[in-house]
Amino acid sequence: MTDLAYLDSTDAAYVRTFRAQIRARPPGAVVLDRTYFYAAGGGQPADRGLFHVPSGRTVEVVDVTKSGSAVLHRTRGTPGALDDLAVGTEVEGVLDFERRYRHMRLHTAQHFLSARIFARANIRTQKAKLGGREGTLDLEGMVVAGILPELAEDASEALSRPRPVRIRHVPRAEWDLHPSTRSGLVRLAAHIDPVRVIEIDGIDACPCGGTHVRSTDEIGRIAIRDPVPLAGGCCRLTFTLSEETATPSA
Ligand SMILES: [Zn+2]
Repeated sequence: MTDLAYLDSTDAAYVRTFRAQIRARPPGAVVLDRTYFYAAGGGQPADRGLFHVPSGRTVEVVDVTKSGSAVLHRTRGTPGALDDLAVGTEVEGVLDFERRYRHMRLHTAQHFLSARIFARANIRTQKAKLGGREGTLDLEGMVVAGILPELAEDASEALSRPRPVRIRHVPRAEWDLHPSTRSGLVRLAAHIDPVRVIEIDGIDACPCGGTHVRSTDEIGRIAIRDPVPLAGGCCRLTFTLSEETATPSA
């Protein structure tokens, strides 16, 4: 029901304002015909932002979730402003892009680290979570502290010799024939076709519905903390990003 416009390309992840029409008004929420707001999922937090309505009033978007094929934008505002959100009205959506861009950098950093850990230690990522200014990787085995300097070296090379990040939409049958080396353990649901693949040039190709930066140098410097053991011989790696990478201008 809602067209997820941010999925189309890496450029689409950089759209910060857009126009769309209200299609439904479930309690406390707004459903649009299309959106660039990311709904929480796959370890990436939801976007925040606001809607401008034709009367000139503004409504806050405080959370974004999926319900079937619809995206629910949870809204907060004065009763008058909320009354302006009638079905059929055109709104202008404005993303909190500073927050979104942090998530884009964290998400590409997570793919990068998962791929390098798999290449160097043959350990896959079970689960990843991004939020605030850090990300965590839950790994299927224990990473020996010895590979941390190697990972740090990989990360600094990605910054100094930028690699492009591309999005490809691959027919499912084609993906299943050549599923490329997976650094993650999460299974691809049977209904997903085509498969949206995020490629970090020469490093990784991974199915994902998240938002990513265009090039590895936008990630900035990655700092990795010592692994923390988890049950069953697994471990958790936490990473943070330096803050000097400026949000790109609109
Ligand atoms: Zn992802």
